[in-house]
Amino acid sequence: MSIESLRCKECGTACELDARYVCESCFGPLEVAYDHSSLDPAEAKRRIQAGSQGIWRYADFLPFEGRPGDPLEPGLTPLLRADRLAERLGIDAELWVKNDAANPTHSFKDRVVAVAVAKARELGFETVACASTGNLANALAAHAAAAGLGSYVFVPANLEEQKLLATGVYGTNLVGVRGNYDDVNRLCTQLAETRPWAFVNVNLRPYYAEGSKTLAYETVEQLGWELPDRVVCPIASGSLFTKVGHGFQEWLDLGLVDGEQPVFNGAQAQGCSPVATAFAAGWEICKPQRPETIAKSLAIGDPADGPYALEHARRTGGTIDAVSDEEIRDGIRLLAETTGIFTETAGGVTIGVLAKLAERGEIAAGERLVVYITGEGLKTLDATRDRFRMHEIDPDLDSFESEFRQAVTA
Ligand SMILES: *Cc1c(COP(=O)(O)O)cnc(C)c1O
Ligand SMILES: [Zn+2]
Repeated sequence: MSIESLRCKECGTACELDARYVCESCFGPLEVAYDHSSLDPAEAKRRIQAGSQGIWRYADFLPFEGRPGDPLEPGLTPLLRADRLAERLGIDAELWVKNDAANPTHSFKDRVVAVAVAKARELGFETVACASTGNLANALAAHAAAAGLGSYVFVPANLEEQKLLATGVYGTNLVGVRGNYDDVNRLCTQLAETRPWAFVNVNLRPYYAEGSKTLAYETVEQLGWELPDRVVCPIASGSLFTKVGHGFQEWLDLGLVDGEQPVFNGAQAQGCSPVATAFAAGWEICKPQRPETIAKSLAIGDPADGPYALEHARRTGGTIDAVSDEEIRDGIRLLAETTGIFTETAGGVTIGVLAKLAERGEIAAGERLVVYITGEGLKTLDATRDRFRMHEIDPDLDSFESEFRQAVTA
């Protein structure tokens, strides 16, 4: 038995493992605490390697007593060497891309939702819900359908059409709120008080957040039980960024891997960059912003885990940078052209920041670097519109020859 309690991140007060997220003593956020004192690292590795081909292979480090079953088990997404991308960026580094678009609903959100929905079932909830910037909506609707649970999904009404369609198809109650994500989140916090629902990122947030640690575990395993020197990771609420750090730290502390915590570089869009702004200004907390960016999946103006993301970036000697909408579009193109991976706007943000780090000369020769691509390009097609030209021809050889004459004679 390793899962112990929920514990306040601020004052350390412990409380029961149920659907709660705020400390009763100080109103700080709660997280899951484990007791791994009897863990043998060699035995833990064996249990992982004998496990399923997805996130439940890490069940010993997730908030369950047993191994949850799950028809839509996410995880074990490809970690690919990206030498051509490194070359284009002019860096002499060992560059890897973790393609988390290769999950059941094509974003990393399947990880957090799988954990939260399994917990919701364990706690006896019949209905799950969420406040989403898009990908969480897709994931929650799908995992609820697979588990046979009722669901309510709240999103900003102006979301990308692809993300609305890829949510509604699962037969959820899709609610488009006339407002931005922060308005949606406020409404859901109120609803969580009155409805008997498991809001995965509100009252189940401590469990939900644990799902992101599996990205760190997979990275270590896929690198042959070694750590990268640096990671580049997008930030919306800051949960993913900090929990990937927790995942590495947990395995360092328990002796499953040697070395030190990688340098963490966070990535935001300029049009919604409360954490990057606070980083640059040297603040310990974030000043809320009103989002205006094509990276809608990252458009959280008042990020719950912003202060922890700031602390983690600073502690590891990293940075948090922001890029413009144009740099996001360039980033999507650059990744596609050099790796064959088509990412959504959030991935464009990450690649845009990677390009900035390369330009500033922050990436040392020989460094091992992992970039987290968290979502799929087909969900944000508008970001690639008008970025290339189709050659339209008549169905005959002459037409082809005249269109491509220059190419042929060149
Ligand atoms: C939600 C999301 C993130 C980051 O989420 P956090 O709120 O910071 O945990 C990153 N990329 C994509 C594509 C997302 O949907
Ligand atoms: Zn507290």
